[in-house]
Amino acid sequence: MLATFLRFQSPLRILPDRSLVEKNLTLAACCLLRAAWRLQVPTRDVSTAAALQAKVRAKQKGEISEKKLTRYFVDHRRVRLVAGSGGKGVCSFHSEPRKEWGGPDGGNGGDGGSISFKADRFVKSLAQVVPVYMAENGQSGSSKNCYGRNGRPTFINVPVGTVVKENERTLVDLCEHSQVYLAVFGGSGGKGNRFFLSNENRAPTTATPGTEGQDRVLHLELRTMAHAGLVGFPNAGKSSLLRAISNARPAVAAYPFTTLNPHVGIVDYRDHEQVAVADIPGIIQGAHLNRGLGISFLRHIERCRFLLFVVDASSPQPWTQLQHLRYELDQYEPGLSQRPHAIVANKMDLREARENLETLKSHVTQRIIPVSALTGHNTEELILHLRELYDGYLH
Ligand code: GDP
Ligand code: MG
Repeated sequence: MLATFLRFQSPLRILPDRSLVEKNLTLAACCLLRAAWRLQVPTRDVSTAAALQAKVRAKQKGEISEKKLTRYFVDHRRVRLVAGSGGKGVCSFHSEPRKEWGGPDGGNGGDGGSISFKADRFVKSLAQVVPVYMAENGQSGSSKNCYGRNGRPTFINVPVGTVVKENERTLVDLCEHSQVYLAVFGGSGGKGNRFFLSNENRAPTTATPGTEGQDRVLHLELRTMAHAGLVGFPNAGKSSLLRAISNARPAVAAYPFTTLNPHVGIVDYRDHEQVAVADIPGIIQGAHLNRGLGISFLRHIERCRFLLFVVDASSPQPWTQLQHLRYELDQYEPGLSQRPHAIVANKMDLREARENLETLKSHVTQRIIPVSALTGHNTEELILHLRELYDGYLH
C-alpha cells in the first residue's frame, strides 16, 4: 500500500524541480542570445540608449512583481477636492491722536483658493494624483483697510485625454495640452465693517465671515492611453516586444495572462520625440463577450491612436490569429480593426516562424514587420515604422 502511494507521489515531486531547471536554462539562453546580438550590432539608427541602460538597471535590482508594476500606470482615480474658504472680514475703527473718530477701517477677507485640472502632455498617467486636495484658505482682513490675501489656486496636472466625471456624468474631456478645467471654486471673503459704511450708518459694527469653498468628489478617467497599442493573443510576445523597444518592464512568461494590467513604454528618438506604446493584455477569442479579462482591455485599445498587431509567427497558420484578432476588435466596436496599423510577426528566431513568413505575407496585403523580441532582431525597423505612423497620423 505504502509502496503504491510512493510510486504515485515521486513523479509529482520531481516535476517542479525539472521545470525549474528548464526555466533557468531558457533564461540563460535568452541572456546569451541578447549579449551576442548586442555585440553584433554596435550602433542603432535610433536612440535606445535609455532602454539599454534601463535593462541593465532592472537586472541589478531584480525583477519587479506584476503587482508592484501596477503602480506605474494608473488610468482611474477618485479624487476629493476641497476649495479654500474665504477669510473673515474685520470690524475695526481708525483712531489716532487728533483724529479720534476716524471711522470704520476693517478690511475684507481674501477669497479661498480654487482647484483646477490642467492637461499636461508630459504627464503620462494619473499615478501622481492623490485622493484628497485642499486648497489654501483666504486670509482674514485687518485694520487700516487691509484686505486679506487670496488663497493660491491649486493646479493638478493630468495627462492629455483625461475625462473628468461626476456621478457617471462627463464634465469635461481635457484633450488639448494646457487646457484647464476649474473644478471647485474657493469661498468668497467676508466683508469688513468699512464695506458697510453709509450715510445712514457712519459707524457700522457689522463684519461678515467668509463662505466655505466648494467640496466635490470627482472621477478621473484616462482616455488616450498611448499612441500605439500592441494587440495580440496571449503568448504572442507583446510584453517581450515592449521590453525590447522601450524602458517598460511588463512581466514575461510562457503562460497566458502573465501580464494583468496594461503597461506603457516610451520609445525615445534622437530628436527627443517620444512615442508611447501600450502592451494591452487579455485579448482572447470571445473577449468581446467579456470572456477572460474581458472588455476592459478592449476599452484600452479604443484609446490608442494606432495599433500594432502582434502575431506569433511560429504557430501553425499565424494568419488565422490575425483574422480572429480583427473579428474580436470589430465585434467590440465596428471599424476598430481598420484603425491605422502595422502587423508584427514575432518569434522570427524560430525555424517554424521563418518558414511561415512567406505564406503569411501572401495572406495579407498590409506590411509585415518580422522581428524577434527575444534576440532583438529587426526591432529597428519596427521602431522606425512606429515613428512613420506617429508622424503620419498625429501631425
Ligand atoms: P504576451 O502574453 O503576448 O505578453 O507574451 P510574453 O511576452 O509574455 O511572451 C510569451 C512567451 O513567448 C515567453 O516565454 C517569451 O519568452 C516567449 N517569446 C516572446 N518573444 C519571443 C521571440 O521573439 N522568440 C521566442 N523564441 N520566444 C519569444
Ligand atoms: Mg504579456
